[in-house]
Amino acid sequence: MRLLIVEDEADLAQAVCDHLRGASHAVDLATGVEQAKAALSTTGYDLVLLDLSLPDGDGLDVLRWLRQRHKDVPVLIVTARDRITERIAGLDAGADDYLVKPYDLDEMLARISAILRRADNDRDPERRIGALRIIPGTHTVLRNDIAVSLTRKQWAILERLSRRPDAIVPKSELEDALYGFGEEVESNTIEAHVSRLRAKLGRGTIETLRGFGYRMGKE
Ligand code: CA
Repeated sequence: MRLLIVEDEADLAQAVCDHLRGASHAVDLATGVEQAKAALSTTGYDLVLLDLSLPDGDGLDVLRWLRQRHKDVPVLIVTARDRITERIAGLDAGADDYLVKPYDLDEMLARISAILRRADNDRDPERRIGALRIIPGTHTVLRNDIAVSLTRKQWAILERLSRRPDAIVPKSELEDALYGFGEEVESNTIEAHVSRLRAKLGRGTIETLRGFGYRMGKE
């Protein structure tokens, strides 16, 4: 998942980014209101972690700006312990949850995972493609109603491919799906993952269109 962290305290921002990258998320950092708006204008994020006290304004302005544009990206707000009215205002303005500073990094991760699961479920409860049932909210795939166990990278590739099952997905887009795993993606990495996915899910489940990319098969 691709996350935007809006935080001006450099040490905290670094710790948060490291922790989220360690959990296989791709993370961008904005240190103020204007940077956050610029990032949100150009990039589709799966979640925003939003500090409310920013050097060039109030994080709530970012939240209101998002909701006015009908962007439904989930937002987890972060605020200081003594500013309870701010928390209430944040939830009223459309935040999904809040964290109180100082917060535990594992708790942050758990809250983020819960929000992402809820968002996945609301948006996209289940995809049926041939013999496969793919359930994004729980990272589950079933073949003929039998659950198949995938590694996180295999899941990331299958999830990306199955968003638009009739579309040809370029290899570069599948490489993006692995971007958050914090390692170099070698030229043959995707082909290797796809061939393991075929071994688990069925040979015809993913087609290779040489020179173009990959597509879900109809098996
Ligand atoms: Ca701050």
